[in-house]
Amino acid sequence: MRVDVVSIFPEYLAPLELSLVGKARRSGLLDLRVHDLRDWTDDRHRTVDDTPFGGGAGMVMRPDVWGRALDDVLTPAGHLLVPSPAGERFTQRTAEALAGEEQIVVACGRYEGIDARVVEDRAARGRVTEISLGDYVLNGGEVAALVVVEAVARLLPGVVGNPESLVEESHGAAGLLEYPVYTKPPSWQGHDVPEVLLSGHHGRVARWRRDQALERTAHRRPDLLAALDVAELDRADLAV
Ligand code: SAM
Repeated sequence: MRVDVVSIFPEYLAPLELSLVGKARRSGLLDLRVHDLRDWTDDRHRTVDDTPFGGGAGMVMRPDVWGRALDDVLTPAGHLLVPSPAGERFTQRTAEALAGEEQIVVACGRYEGIDARVVEDRAARGRVTEISLGDYVLNGGEVAALVVVEAVARLLPGVVGNPESLVEESHGAAGLLEYPVYTKPPSWQGHDVPEVLLSGHHGRVARWRRDQALERTAHRRPDLLAALDVAELDRADLAV
């Protein structure tokens, strides 16, 4: 899969050289390219922004610079993602859908954002999604790009060493939050690992984990539980 990130702070994306994403890049599972938007400017000062029409505070990113960058970077099959606090909420479902794409391009806004005509123009010619990480305002789209790349890359075949670890995760196929996890030592600071996990009894462990996942989800995210199909929930429950 190819991912392009366009930003005025390409160095912000340096963490993508680390850990599993970095390894996926080096092994060729992920073709990740980070671009400096200023490479598409045409003046001495490498200007990417200007004052907003209609007045008001802040600066707006120019459509002509973004237009040239996207002409060069976005392939015909590419899906353009524009981070914005006014976009669709980015979720695990979004990450799953994006993991099947040939190419995604993340256009990182700064200042007051990118001139609205960029999304309008691209939407008339291809796929564009404005995505929001949540109901708060960041300084730029780079953090969103990091989130998208990490969430999508770990779903690509071969990126996470043991694909089993993706199966029971929070926000996965079961629709529940994951059960709590423990490792050695069995007793720490007066807190003991639940007895059942030391029992070696796979059936009891599976039942306990399922119950914990249900309880946690009901307690912390009743909205997730309410969204599940009751018949499907019962079927999965009986299978444990
Ligand atoms: N004036 C814009 C508004 O109120 O909608 C906010 C602009 S923000 C300071 C600059 C950039 O940060 C945005 O263009 C976007 O790329 C990014 N950004 C800020 N908050 C975000 C969020 N919650 N999700 C995704 N991107 C965000």
